[in-house]
Amino acid sequence: NSDLILHVNFELVNLERKRRYTVKDMLGQGTFGQVAKCWDWETNNYVAVKIIKNQPAYYRQAVVEVSILHMLNQKFDPDDKHHIVRILDYFVFQRHLCISFEMLGSNLYELIKMNHFKGLSLNIVQMFSKQILRALVVMKDAGIIHCDMKPENILISTSVKPTEIKVIDFGSACMEGRTVYSYIQSRYYRSPEVLLGYPYTSSIDMWSFGCIVAELFLGLPLFPGASEYDLLKRMIQILGGQPPDNLLRDAKNTSKFFKHVGSIYRLEHEETSEEVTSAYRVLTEEEFEARESKRPSIGKNYFNHVKLEDIIANYPYRKNLPEEEIIRESLTRLALVDFLRGLVEFDPGKRWSP
Ligand code: ATP
Ligand code: MG
Ligand code: MG
Repeated sequence: NSDLILHVNFELVNLERKRRYTVKDMLGQGTFGQVAKCWDWETNNYVAVKIIKNQPAYYRQAVVEVSILHMLNQKFDPDDKHHIVRILDYFVFQRHLCISFEMLGSNLYELIKMNHFKGLSLNIVQMFSKQILRALVVMKDAGIIHCDMKPENILISTSVKPTEIKVIDFGSACMEGRTVYSYIQSRYYRSPEVLLGYPYTSSIDMWSFGCIVAELFLGLPLFPGASEYDLLKRMIQILGGQPPDNLLRDAKNTSKFFKHVGSIYRLEHEETSEEVTSAYRVLTEEEFEARESKRPSIGKNYFNHVKLEDIIANYPYRKNLPEEEIIRESLTRLALVDFLRGLVEFDPGKRWSP
């Protein structure tokens, strides 16, 4: 399995191919390149083509994206039932590696924004959560860690089923047991073990998933950390307690955030560290930062000093619900708290699996 991933079939990269696609529109601008809406003259369909920046590091990372997605699609989800984007083709055009995907619609961040950051109905939160879990199950079985689960990387389908969503962007994904990079995940969705520099597994995606579920419900990110220290402080406040001692003992970056007094780890009061920028990966620090700051800073302090239970139970979104609806919802909110507690769990060993 793990060897398969490193051997991309370069013969499939057809350098001679010409005029199959016509660019119609731009769909998105990512860190790794641009995504264009294209007409595919061979299948007579619209496709989304990710045009990777013409730089060796981006090229190499995109090759990993191709091989991982290819394996997930063909080997683990041949019938397209697990809500993972389909890769259709890849080729080199004018020294740019291009990857074509099935055409999808808005991402979940855009959906929340269109809803004026008010949060989605519990039915929709449940429906989306189930679909994301179906994707995470397959990734775990395949030994793939997505490493960048966030609302921007979950897209709504434009097909016959408009309530179908798909996970995209395997541009940061890696194989379990080959976790080379330590600076991963978008900050709001970054797991405590990645933040603290502790060996990680596919359960980091489950942490991010918990953050996504909470955000779909609240309309705002649960942990909108302005820095890694701020992120950790928010986790500790909202969840109560702190990462388990064995994690703090063995993690590389613990001393950046905690003081070890006697046998007790205490979070430093002052911001002692800048962002952790230990490992070079595809992005430069500035690029990584630029990516984080695309979000507006609305309501960043809303959840300060409030426990998860209170946030979920009392968050005053959708005030004009009918009374019976409010009662029914209050029960479901209790179940939601229980669910989130299993996901945004400090201890990766205790965190729920998909
Ligand atoms: P990031 O900066 O998050 O790492 P990236 O460079 O890896 O981004 P993607 O996340 O793959 O690029 O794509 C960037 C954006 O392009 C997405 O957020 C989405 O809005 C749009 N997009 C990507 N794939 C598709 C698709 N299949 N259909 C429609 N739009 C898409
Ligand atoms: Mg992306
Ligand atoms: Mg990406």
